[in-house]
Amino acid sequence: MKLRVLGAFGGEGLGHRPTAFLINDRTLIDAGTVSSALTVPEQLSIEHALISHSHLDHVAGLVYLSETLGFCETGAAVTVTGIDPVVSTLRWSVFNNILWPDFSKIPHADVPVVKYRALVEDVEQRVADLWVTPVQVNHTVPTTGFIIHDGSSGLIYSGDTGPTETRLPEPAGPARGDRQAPHARPDQPRARQAPAGPPRPDLPREAPVPRGDRRRARAHRQRPPQHSGAGPHVRGVTGR
Ligand SMILES: [Zn+2]
Repeated sequence: MKLRVLGAFGGEGLGHRPTAFLINDRTLIDAGTVSSALTVPEQLSIEHALISHSHLDHVAGLVYLSETLGFCETGAAVTVTGIDPVVSTLRWSVFNNILWPDFSKIPHADVPVVKYRALVEDVEQRVADLWVTPVQVNHTVPTTGFIIHDGSSGLIYSGDTGPTETRLPEPAGPARGDRQAPHARPDQPRARQAPAGPPRPDLPREAPVPRGDRRRARAHRQRPPQHSGAGPHVRGVTGR
């Protein structure tokens, strides 16, 4: 799994870009930063945007990405993906022809550059070359984290959250170090098992990875000096 950090801050400033990650060049996790971190060809390769919640520091990049897709007219489109309250908020509050053009009808309603897809909470679903499970977390608006894997490596993205009763499972891959979700209380079990989802026919859900090939990265989101508060975390990234 290829993970690229486009932005990892809860605000914007010199050298600080809002939260967004890109997996395998095709799937965004949140979209606080897109056009300012990617070339036009790289933007055109994006197919899906997994959105944890509707706050601007997680979605602002969608408006300029949609503009790029609209102007280039290559047929490329991005599918805004998340639980229904998140997708609906973006549809009616951002791409509403008031704050920003309705790119779900541009250039044509039958071949738009922005599409929408609502995911079911706590259910593993196929998104591009990934399996994705949205898990609700506590925040001031409807928010999910995401459990993401490709059958051999994976990660857990918490989204913006603070203390919550939700317990995230261990990501597939090697057990090394402390992988407890950052919001879990010490008196709670460390993890729950991921909900059963449709098996991928050509790849086991937790294929063993040789220890020598295993690599773990951890990206903790930080806010620029002028900001403070809870932020999202990417935990337990494993893969080659
Ligand atoms: Zn937020």
